[in-house]
Amino acid sequence: MKICFLDVDGVLVTDERYWQTPTWNLGTIDTLKHILRETGAKIVLSSTWRTRAYLIHAFVEMCNKYNLGKDVIMGMTPDINLFSRDKEITEYLNRLAQSRLLLNIEDYVKSWVVIDDEQSFFQNKVLDINKVVFVDKNKGLTIKEAERVIKILNK
Ligand SMILES: [Mg+2]
Repeated sequence: MKICFLDVDGVLVTDERYWQTPTWNLGTIDTLKHILRETGAKIVLSSTWRTRAYLIHAFVEMCNKYNLGKDVIMGMTPDINLFSRDKEITEYLNRLAQSRLLLNIEDYVKSWVVIDDEQSFFQNKVLDINKVVFVDKNKGLTIKEAERVIKILNK
């Protein structure tokens, strides 16, 4: 099992008006598909999008519409603190380990990576920052970051 913790705004949506009607940046979706094809990773939503039902729905629709893969969405991180995404991701992994009765999450999750555009959400030093790939919010996910993501997932 490989997991890609995925942000949306600034990663797949680079439109300024993103909170209203999401406009997918199709180039970034192609890049995400490339990552999923190369790694077989599942997606865990870590974006604030997961706190709004209509945005979760929009995300699921996008995955179907652009054929990201059957059962590609694994879940979403718990809503703990808007500004501490690193804590939320760590908590997700802890709960996943608990639910599988595992002492070490590595026994189940072979590798994981985070894709995000907001460095300030990762200041708590609770997770391996080498597994966080930051993208430029104006460009979104590009092939340059994708290569790093693939390398981390396929290590
Ligand atoms: Mg973002």
